[in-house]
Amino acid sequence: MNNDYIRKRTQCFGMSMMVMGVSFFLYYLGLFGNVEGPLSPGKIGASLAGIGVTKAHALMFFLSFFIIAMTWNHLYNLVSLMMGSRLTCNHKNKEGHICGALTRKIKTGTDKKKGGVRYTCVNGHTCFNAGFRPVKKGSVSHTVWVTALLFCVIILYGA
Ligand SMILES: [Zn+2]
Repeated sequence: MNNDYIRKRTQCFGMSMMVMGVSFFLYYLGLFGNVEGPLSPGKIGASLAGIGVTKAHALMFFLSFFIIAMTWNHLYNLVSLMMGSRLTCNHKNKEGHICGALTRKIKTGTDKKKGGVRYTCVNGHTCFNAGFRPVKKGSVSHTVWVTALLFCVIILYGA
């Protein structure tokens, strides 16, 4: 057990507490419908209807929000892959560790058949192929799509 381990555990704990805090906050605002508050599904419905927003509109809004929150990193990865960015070095050292540093494509020579593409990383390795480092969602991203989904469900079955 070292300092790094403790720090990670503390961060993890802090994140859980934050999510719990937000959940309690929303609960007491009546979001889940079991406590009477400004965010009670019925009240949301009434106030939305008051400003001329229908259930369908609200559902469309949160559904598209949900889809964007779910897919943004996949789209970003796809674009990065096509553009040849976010590549990582595949060079292995004597112990078999992969370097993994950011690398870029360099073209050597003009004859494509001889494989004119090389990859070079910031540590000075040159490889014939490179890995790809995808963007992964963090806990905030996950919280956002869960929240958007929650709103969809509330609009569908609650209000
Ligand atoms: Zn490298």
